Amino acid sequence: MSYAQRVSARHRVVLLRRARRVALVALAAGALLASEVSLINQLVSRGEAAEVVRSGGPEAAAALLPVPVIVQVEATEPPEGCGADGALRAKDPAALLDAFGGAKGMHAAILAGDAPCVPLDDPALPWVVVNKQRPLDPIRYAPGVLAVPPSHVVEGSLRADVVESFEKLVAAARDEGSGRLALFSGYRSYDDQVSTYDSQVGARGQEDADALSAHPGFSEHQLGLAADVVACSDAGCGTIYEFGATPQGRWLVENSWRYGWIIRYESGHTPTTGYEPEPWHLRYIGPELAEVYHEGGHHTLEEFFGLPAAPAYE
Ligand SMILES: [Zn+2]
Repeated sequence: MSYAQRVSARHRVVLLRRARRVALVALAAGALLASEVSLINQLVSRGEAAEVVRSGGPEAAAALLPVPVIVQVEATEPPEGCGADGALRAKDPAALLDAFGGAKGMHAAILAGDAPCVPLDDPALPWVVVNKQRPLDPIRYAPGVLAVPPSHVVEGSLRADVVESFEKLVAAARDEGSGRLALFSGYRSYDDQVSTYDSQVGARGQEDADALSAHPGFSEHQLGLAADVVACSDAGCGTIYEFGATPQGRWLVENSWRYGWIIRYESGHTPTTGYEPEPWHLRYIGPELAEVYHEGGHHTLEEFFGLPAAPAYE
């Protein structure tokens, strides 16, 4: 139950949201007259009700009104959520996060069903969820600008705006003693995925291929936000299959979130993700949400956002 719903269970509540301040004003008993609502609206819209409550408490606010009222103001300025001007139109992740007072607020609002303006299916947004039940939309989506990370690449590119965070991650792994990491596979187009998947089917049969490789249009790699990484040394770079047991692999489990990346397919969560563990497959969701993900002890994006498990294609 939301805060507002809890309050209205006790009182008849008029919820007034104006400017950047919110005051919850409830009449102790009886009905609010239209003129009183109008007066409260005027006070709140001028910022006065919130100011009065802040400085003088409920009694001071009540003194401004012709009838006794109970005034409650949340201790911290609440986020405006989907009412924020322009955040959705801009499709700007930073503006959307800001509208909810940060990633924690946005995550809570999504789980509560209070964030209809935060799509989880927009492939341009860093928190988009793609899985066996949620293909990319449009299915042949391609990100605008790609870039090859300037260092640490065996092969591949990423969406240009996440390259810097990838480079920071790689530098931190090295500086903190785990060793060198390199991008092994990044962006893969719809057509690339047709070839990847078909070759897996040819090598393993469809059932095993489905556990390892996405159908075209269902791969996070098509977003430009997924990075398969390998561990490297002076002797060269290892394979993705060896990666989980390397110092770099263990370091990522603890630290990737600091740079906005999560390990998308963890051990023990195949029934939710539909994929066998892939300790080498990093997915960028942005540092703000990745911190919430890490601190909350989450293991799949499906569970993080309260979405259904996606063990198989429909
Ligand atoms: Zn991958």
